[in-house]
Amino acid sequence: MEIRHIRQLSAEVIGQIAAGEVVERPAAAIKELVENSMDAGATAITVEIRDGGITYFRVVDNGSGIQPSDIRLAFSRHATSKISQADDLYGVRTLGFRGEALASIAAVSKVNCTTRMHGAEYGVSAQNNGGEMGEIKEAACPEGTSFTVKDLFYNAPVRRKFLKKPATETGYISDLMMRFILSHPQISFRYVADGKTIYFSAGDSKLESAVMSIYGLSTLENLHQVSGNMNGVLLEGYLGVGDLSRGNRSHQSFILNGRLIKSNLLTNALEEACKQRVMIGRFPMCVLHLTLPFEAVDVNVHPNKWEVRFQNEPAVRDAVQTLVLESLQKDTPLSAAPALFDEPELPISNAVITRTSPEQYKKAEKEDIEPNSKINIPSSVFEKRDSVFVEPSPNSTSSFVARSDEGNPSFTQEIPSEAVTRNAFSIPVAEPVKPVPFEEPTVEQVQVPILQEEFDTLPVRLIGVVFNTYILLECQDRLLMCDQHAVHERLLYEQFMRDLAGSTATQMLMVPEIVHLTHREYDMFLDAKDALFAAGFDASDFGDLTVQLRSVPMMLGQARSAECFRDALDELIESGALSQHKRTDRIIQMACKHAVKGGERAPMEALMDLIRRMIRENVTPTCPHGRPLVIQVTERELEKRFHRIQN
Ligand code: ADP
Ligand code: MG
Repeated sequence: MEIRHIRQLSAEVIGQIAAGEVVERPAAAIKELVENSMDAGATAITVEIRDGGITYFRVVDNGSGIQPSDIRLAFSRHATSKISQADDLYGVRTLGFRGEALASIAAVSKVNCTTRMHGAEYGVSAQNNGGEMGEIKEAACPEGTSFTVKDLFYNAPVRRKFLKKPATETGYISDLMMRFILSHPQISFRYVADGKTIYFSAGDSKLESAVMSIYGLSTLENLHQVSGNMNGVLLEGYLGVGDLSRGNRSHQSFILNGRLIKSNLLTNALEEACKQRVMIGRFPMCVLHLTLPFEAVDVNVHPNKWEVRFQNEPAVRDAVQTLVLESLQKDTPLSAAPALFDEPELPISNAVITRTSPEQYKKAEKEDIEPNSKINIPSSVFEKRDSVFVEPSPNSTSSFVARSDEGNPSFTQEIPSEAVTRNAFSIPVAEPVKPVPFEEPTVEQVQVPILQEEFDTLPVRLIGVVFNTYILLECQDRLLMCDQHAVHERLLYEQFMRDLAGSTATQMLMVPEIVHLTHREYDMFLDAKDALFAAGFDASDFGDLTVQLRSVPMMLGQARSAECFRDALDELIESGALSQHKRTDRIIQMACKHAVKGGERAPMEALMDLIRRMIRENVTPTCPHGRPLVIQVTERELEKRFHRIQN
C-alpha cells in the first residue's frame, strides 16, 4: 500500500476549502457583500448581476467606505473591524463578525474593490484575483464602496460544475434580494439582473412599502398585520393565510434584529397558529420582524449565518404563536371573505419601478379606474347604490330595462314602486326574512359596516340557497356566498372544543360496540389510545384485532360510531407522526367533517340559524381544514364584469 505522508496545505488550498463554507454559490457571496454594505451604514444599495452572477456581479453602496490602509487587511482571513475579542461574540449587533467573507470570495474569483471614505478627497481601487492582492491605486469614485466580482470559481472548476443553470442561480439571488428588501425597509435597494431592474424599494423605513414593492398592493391589503410583544419578544409584520397561502415555504421571511434567518422553531410556531386558516398542503406566507435583546440569541452557529439559537426557545415559540393567533382572531367570517374574482395584479416590474409606496400606488390605481365615458351610463349610477335596478318590464318589448332613481330621461321606464324594493335576482327559495335580534357589536366586531340603521338586526339579508349548498347573502355592497357545510363544520368544531373543556363532549353508546380492525388500524389504535380518548372515543383492547367501543364524540351519533372510529384511525395513519395534542385535534376535525353531510337540503330556518350563529359568535372564517366559510363578490366587481364601468 502506498504510504501517504501528512503535508501542510498551502495557503491557497486552505483559502479554497474555507471559501466553500461561505461562498457556496453567487447568492451566498452577494449576501455577504450586501451585509457588509449594511454594516457600513449604507442607505442605498445596488446589486447588479449577469448570468446568474456566475460571470459577473457588483454590489455598490453609499456606506462609510474603507480606509485605504485597511484594504489589504479587509481581504485577509479573520480580519474584521466588527469584533475584537471572544466576548464580543455574545451580543453581536453587526451582520458580519467572522472576518472571512472577503477573503473567501477573493480566493475563488477576481474581485475589484473601489471605495471612498465619507469626506475623503479621493478613493482607491484594489484588485484581488484568487487571493492574490494587486496594486492599490488612487481612483476617482463616489463616496461609498463598490465590489465587482467576476468569474466565480474560475480557479475551482469542480465547484463551478456544481453551480446550477444561470436562470436558477438568478432565482436564488432574486429570492435573497426579496428578503433583503423585506428585512431592511430603511434601505433603498435596486436589483438589476441582466440589464433589467427586477426590484426597487423606496427605503422610506415603512415595512408596508417594502412588502408592496415585492408583493403588490392587493396582496398587501389582504395581509394580516401582526404587532405585539410577549415574553420579551417584539413581533411586527404581515401574514397571509387563506387565498394568500402558498404551495411551499419560500414566502416565509423571518427577520431577527435585522438579520435574515431560517428557523424551524419559528416556522412551526407560525404554522401551528395558522393551521385552521390554511388548507392541508399549503403554507402561510409572512414577513415577520422579531426584536429580542442581542444577548438572548446566539448568531454564531454556521458560517452562512442563516441559523441562530435562542436562549429561551419555548418563550420565543409561545410568543410568536400567540401573537400570530391574536392577529388572526381579529377576522370575522364576513370581514375575511375571499373574493370570487381575482384582482388583476400589476406586473411586478411596473409595480415596483413607478410606485414604491402604497400611497403612490393607490393614487395611480385610482387614476387608472376612473369610469370610462365610452360607456354611456349616467354618473349617478356609480354614486348611489340602491338606486339602480334591473327589472323585468311588463310593458316593454325588451325583457329588461335599467332604471336610475335620478330619473335620467333615457333610462326612465315606470316601474311599480313595490318592484323597486324587491330584488329581481331573488331566488324563489328565499322567504322574506324577519329581522333577527343581533347583539350590539363591539368595536372590533364591526369590521363589516352594518346595513340596517339599527344594530338589532343582522348586517345581512338572506337571498336564498343555490345547489343545496351555498347560502347567498347581501351585505351592503357585497354579495356573500356561504358554504353551508363549512359553516356547520366550523360551528360544530367550536361547540365541541367548548364542550371538551366542560367534558360534556362524549356520549356513551347504549350497547358497547365491538369493532374489528386491520393490523395497521389496530397498531394505530394501540399507539393513539390517549389521543382518541381525549377526542371522545373511549375504546379498549378486546384482543385479536378487535376493540370495544364505549363512547364516541357527541356530534357523531350512535349509528355511525364504528365507521367513524375507523375513519379516525385512518386519518391518523395518513397524517403520520404527530404529537398527542395534534392527533386529538385531527380526530376532532375528522369528526366534524363526518357530522355534516354533503348536498343536503336544509330547512331555511336552520340555515338562517347557521348564519346567525356564524356572525354572532364571530367564528374563525374557515372550516377546521382551512376552507373558507364565505366568499364574496363586490357590487363594483359585478359592475366591471357587466361592463357598466371599465376596469
Ligand atoms: P466581516 O464582515 O465579518 O467583518 P468581511 O470579510 O465581510 O468580514 O469584511 C472585512 C472587513 O472589511 C469588514 O470588517 C469591514 O471593516 C470592511 N468592509 C467590507 N465591506 C465593506 C463595505 N462595503 N463598506 C465598508 N467596509 C467594508
Ligand atoms: Mg462581512
